[in-house]
Amino acid sequence: MSHFAYRDGMLHAEDVPLPQIAAAHGTPCFVYSRAALLSRFEEFRQALAGRDTLLCYAVKANSNLAILNLFARAGAGFDIVSGGELARVIAAGGDPARVVFSGVGKTKDEMHQALVAGIFCFNVESSAELERLDAIAGQAGKRASIALRVNPDVDAKTHPYISTGLRSNKFGVAYAEALDLYRRARVLPNVDIAGIACHIGSQLLDPAPAAEAAEKILALADRLAADGIVLRHLDLGGGIGIRYRDETPLPVAGYLAPVLEKLAGRKEKILFEPGRALVGNAGVLLTRIEHLKHGEEKNFAIVDAAMNDLMRPALYDAWHDILPVRQAAGATAEYEVVGPVCESGDFLGHARALAVAEGDLLSVMSAGAYGMAMSSNYNTRPRAAEVMVDGNQIHLVRERERIEQLFAGERVLP
Ligand SMILES: *Cc1c(COP(=O)(O)O)cnc(C)c1O
Repeated sequence: MSHFAYRDGMLHAEDVPLPQIAAAHGTPCFVYSRAALLSRFEEFRQALAGRDTLLCYAVKANSNLAILNLFARAGAGFDIVSGGELARVIAAGGDPARVVFSGVGKTKDEMHQALVAGIFCFNVESSAELERLDAIAGQAGKRASIALRVNPDVDAKTHPYISTGLRSNKFGVAYAEALDLYRRARVLPNVDIAGIACHIGSQLLDPAPAAEAAEKILALADRLAADGIVLRHLDLGGGIGIRYRDETPLPVAGYLAPVLEKLAGRKEKILFEPGRALVGNAGVLLTRIEHLKHGEEKNFAIVDAAMNDLMRPALYDAWHDILPVRQAAGATAEYEVVGPVCESGDFLGHARALAVAEGDLLSVMSAGAYGMAMSSNYNTRPRAAEVMVDGNQIHLVRERERIEQLFAGERVLP
């Protein structure tokens, strides 16, 4: 069941008609469905039932505190990529002991912060990082639990910008080097080898690459065990794809089945790090048409949301469905749906057939992941408000930024 659906010709989020949100909180506005978020989480939980697992939500997909809090209360762990994300997880009531820290460029300060917080594991991505972490842990009088993020060199068959598991990517340590690096980790005084990690890319629809990666990770875990290095957990990353347009993603259980089959009978705890799959279809970007412009070759629907609010179309040429909030019977025209930002790449959708008028509301679908989280203030545009709907209740979960906030930290020369 979709939590964003038409009722009597009006698009709703759960039981709330979207114009009610625009009236209360303005546009552009991200709207999330609490039920959609929780039902996705539940789908993962059920797919993993009966196994020793930790589901670590990838915070970078959408780091709003209300979303983190919802998942924390549902029992989630978190996958973070910065000290800022760790601070958010803690502020939202998340348990640091369920946090894994990924990313290729962890600073000394971030390492220290995470050690003091007592995170579950550092996913280490290079030998330089391993040595630095050992030193920082020593200074802090802590032991750092680590997994090496290994690059299994499988082709995830997704967009090159979101493919991360190939040898040519900046992520992870090479498969062939992993054994040596584990041997090095074993003799470092302030490092405790806990597991192994991989993450091969994003928006994956075919489970075969993930199963192939799992197989390679298992082979390495067994090779390590033969060397006396026994791992406590296997982290298989995130990347599970969702429907944006006409994709037909498997249900979570179906996607995970080939992976879990490879893991049958293993003693290690299993971690997954889904981001998009948990939040992507649980949010929309609500925007209002400012002007309709009929050019010589194209028609433009100029809306009050822009690439600074939702960067995915400009960055990856990504498709988002764009629906009129009120279904109209009138004739449709083909529109370029664009924002007011001074870039030709500032579009939300090309050649969309819409029956719309100035002042109408549009809903940009599947905007829950990598929407607000990637937004910026380009063109000195305050970032959008965020709202979470729960049944017929509307909760403002982030205020719209105010213009004064945008330059509050700036100074002119005396
Ligand atoms: C981005 C990322 C994820 C989440 O990816 P999704 O495609 O949103 O599921 C998980 N793990 C790591 C290490 C990541 O970088």
